[in-house]
Amino acid sequence: MTLSTRFAPSPTGPLHLGHAYAAWVAADLASRERGRFQLRIEDIDQTRARAEWEAQIYLDLSWLGLEWETPVMRQSDRLSEYQRALDRLWRDGLLYPCNCNRRDILNAATAPQEGAAQSFGPDGLIYPGTCRDKPRPKTRPPDLALRLDMAQALGQAQYCFTETGRGPDGQTGDITLARDHILRNTGDVVLARRDMGTSYHLSVVVDDAAQGITTVTRGHDLFDATQIHIVLQSLLGFDVPRYHHHRLIRDDAGKRLAKRDDARAIRTYRDDGYSVSDIKTMIGLG
Ligand code: GLU
Repeated sequence: MTLSTRFAPSPTGPLHLGHAYAAWVAADLASRERGRFQLRIEDIDQTRARAEWEAQIYLDLSWLGLEWETPVMRQSDRLSEYQRALDRLWRDGLLYPCNCNRRDILNAATAPQEGAAQSFGPDGLIYPGTCRDKPRPKTRPPDLALRLDMAQALGQAQYCFTETGRGPDGQTGDITLARDHILRNTGDVVLARRDMGTSYHLSVVVDDAAQGITTVTRGHDLFDATQIHIVLQSLLGFDVPRYHHHRLIRDDAGKRLAKRDDARAIRTYRDDGYSVSDIKTMIGLG
């Protein structure tokens, strides 16, 4: 099978050194195996995505010497695909509407009668299940968030994936996660946000399958989200790709670079006269 990787930036700010590293990891893996390197614009958050940032992504990646397949997949063009996936999960009785806001969740999760300490999953505080047992409407409400009923969704005793890179704690090779581990560490995650009608987790799984991605490359920060993704792949009938998590690029203080670190934007370095090989050296690829 031809290896196929992707780089999936969100056009919500300038690409920085961390993005350059992520794009090179994906592209190098594909080129070493004479595979495919695809790009995907993750712009489901239309309140933050901007056409200018998308245009800048193409300029920056070209300047870095990367070549990708066209047409480029853009998530905002694929909302009906996400609705189809949600319809399927809804029909299978695995979703429920939720109208809790952040404060409701915090209050319920920290209520004294809960007894347990609050715990965090890939999306922050694990949802305490407030809306899970409310009567579920017959048809899917269009204007509420939808959560995955994780206890119902976990149909297997264990889930497996192959890590060809390393997780943040050195996890590598064939990784097996017990059902209860996933349940405890994720809870009922949101699959459709009220303001977007989808979510990162749902869209990424639907799109990796649609693009035929065989190796998902991405940073350590998303390692814990992988357990949610392999459950969704199983529910939606998709193959589980290989995963290749890589290190994050940090600033001098050891903090992970973020979009707001404009000083580290690739464009800023280019405007200041740095070369592509300078960038490679800075991120340890030189
Ligand atoms: N869009 C995500 C980001 O910019 C990457 C998602 C992924 O690689 O799964 O961090």
